[in-house]
Amino acid sequence: VLVVEDDIPLATILERGLVEDGYAVDLAHRVVDARHSAQSNEYDIVVLDLGLPDGNGLDLCAELRADGYAVPILMLTARDSLSDKVSGLDSGADDYLTKPFDYPELAARLRALVRRPADARTPVLEVGELKLDPASRRVWLGAIVVPLTSREFSLLEYLMIHSAAVVSRTDLLEHV
Ligand code: CA
Repeated sequence: VLVVEDDIPLATILERGLVEDGYAVDLAHRVVDARHSAQSNEYDIVVLDLGLPDGNGLDLCAELRADGYAVPILMLTARDSLSDKVSGLDSGADDYLTKPFDYPELAARLRALVRRPADARTPVLEVGELKLDPASRRVWLGAIVVPLTSREFSLLEYLMIHSAAVVSRTDLLEHV
């Protein structure tokens, strides 16, 4: 989980609760850090505060979505007006929670959001005995799990997607 929240005590409470619930948590306190984390790490979910010291959660959300960022986003805000909720959802957030909230409610909404993408998730690729799951980034040959580096995984994924075609070096350099 990436938690983007500039209120340090609240961010700390969220982090503690989420870690207790078994999530791995990264904290970001500013838009610039959140953008960097979202671009350089893979998250299952993002908790995004609306008011941040160097910008607006709505703008960041819209920007990430415009870039094709598909990770579920739960927006947090102190405001409780209808227009804020509408703009939150319009900017591409999947859910919305108004402060103050109880941690169990946040946890329940996160569980629902993490469950939701299951049907939208990229399907498992199969070529011969090779099986590759883009969601969990795991590869099997028959029943054997094949450990791969990130680059090897990307190469294999690209080749499996294009298994019916000859893939050129240029294709690989451009896409992997
Ligand atoms: Ca804030």
